[in-house]
Amino acid sequence: MKTRKLEIACPQCGSANVFYSCTPNCCFNHVCSECGTTFEPATSAKGGFVKGVIPPDPLPDSTEPTAECAKCNSTAVYLMEDGGLVCGKCGALLTLELTEIAPG
Ligand SMILES: [Zn+2]
Ligand SMILES: [Zn+2]
Repeated sequence: MKTRKLEIACPQCGSANVFYSCTPNCCFNHVCSECGTTFEPATSAKGGFVKGVIPPDPLPDSTEPTAECAKCNSTAVYLMEDGGLVCGKCGALLTLELTEIAPG
């Protein structure tokens, strides 16, 4: 199954110009370059797994939106063609939630 890079829209203004401003061993703080809102994405398992997840090519770089798999803690979380989230490592189907929203 082909995937593409995770995209997260700003919960405040809807902009897709959202950057990951920290590192996975610290936190998942993201910042919106349009309005300065910060937030942290979190995932929860939707139930079910898919096999043969193909990571996006090229892989996202370290400032692109990143979330952690609720099942295996991998940050290889990608978007499927239907817009759903999937873990590239364990194949878990995931749903995205935004937490710690602090309007800029
Ligand atoms: Zn924004
Ligand atoms: Zn996983």
